[in-house]
Amino acid sequence: MRIVSGMRPTGKLHLGHYFGVIKNWVKLQEEHETFFFVADWHALTTGYKNISALHENIEELMVDWIALGLDPQKSVLFIQSKVKEHAELYLLLGMITPKSWLEWNPTYKDLKYNLLRISDLELMIKNSIRDIVKEVVAKLPYKVEDFELLEEQLVDDMAQSIIKGIFEGYLARDILREINVSKRDFYETDTFGFLGYPVLQAADILIYKAKGVPVGEDQLPHIELTREIARRFNYLYGETFPEPEALLTPTSKLPGTDGRKMSKSYNNAIYFADSKEEVQSKVMKFFTDPQKLRKGDPGRPEICPVFFYHKIFTEEVTVKQIEEDCKKGALGCVDCKRMMFERLEAFLEPIREKRQKAKENIKQIKHAFLDGSHTASKIARQTLEEVRERMNLV
Ligand code: SF4
Repeated sequence: MRIVSGMRPTGKLHLGHYFGVIKNWVKLQEEHETFFFVADWHALTTGYKNISALHENIEELMVDWIALGLDPQKSVLFIQSKVKEHAELYLLLGMITPKSWLEWNPTYKDLKYNLLRISDLELMIKNSIRDIVKEVVAKLPYKVEDFELLEEQLVDDMAQSIIKGIFEGYLARDILREINVSKRDFYETDTFGFLGYPVLQAADILIYKAKGVPVGEDQLPHIELTREIARRFNYLYGETFPEPEALLTPTSKLPGTDGRKMSKSYNNAIYFADSKEEVQSKVMKFFTDPQKLRKGDPGRPEICPVFFYHKIFTEEVTVKQIEEDCKKGALGCVDCKRMMFERLEAFLEPIREKRQKAKENIKQIKHAFLDGSHTASKIARQTLEEVRERMNLV
């Protein structure tokens, strides 16, 4: 089966990327015809202002992929922007994709919802300030001329300062967290590129006539949209694209050091680029069962992220022992973390070495990705010729 998937170059990879995506890709490349691409155009849909690190991020991603086992002899590894055909197909598919399909995309709907909540927040802040200003002015021993004009000006100025404070991170981090929005989402993401990225994703997949796309559950709506776009194209111009199937990735949601999902934005990730010392320091700060304060206290391994890691990296018989000892208070968290660190390091150390080697061979790796881009281009060109013909563009 031909399989296509991509990853945005947004920084170094962490353990969550490996267990959520790459491990599965490495397995798939053994059994299928696989195309994996660095989605640099997609990185611009949200990060078009932060391009200074783009080159470095692409390189880091290539290095991580190779160190984690993706093999240019087994997979076509390439850079999206080196295969310009994606862009032409994106344009053509954009012509036939109803805008409403994109507006229903859950990521876009979330953005719109958050923007709405921010404007509610703005209104709430303004009303509160207005009440305070009125109260203060009423208590003044003299009458303020043109009070209404002054009030508006004051309310606007103060509200703007508070809102600016919120988005610059000085104030109310909890408010931002609660409404699940970041400064970037608010200011930068309401663009044509962001609205249209599912069409680019459809082009990325359909240009190779892929039959399978490995995705996490959150990506399912995008694959459904790709299928709908393929169906619409086939209906309008004749059978051209197969409808790709979503290959649901068997994910284990790896917790970060604070127990939440591992993510760069939560600052709770363990990176493959981290040194042994950095990993050790992160492991020793890991969140554990908050009810277990000292060694003698009975713990609850089932809610403890450290135990989650033991289940992945530690031998089964030791995991059972840890579970028992934790529950009866015979094991302290510090010792438990030290054991986990040893096992985790046994997994990370060889990858770190491969990373180092890959960095030293970066020229060859870049060549391999360029070769991959040529191979991908050849197939993409054939599909585009067919598409142009179907659309009377020849
Ligand atoms: S002993 Fe280990 S499993 Fe139990 S709470 Fe502490 S860190 Fe978690």
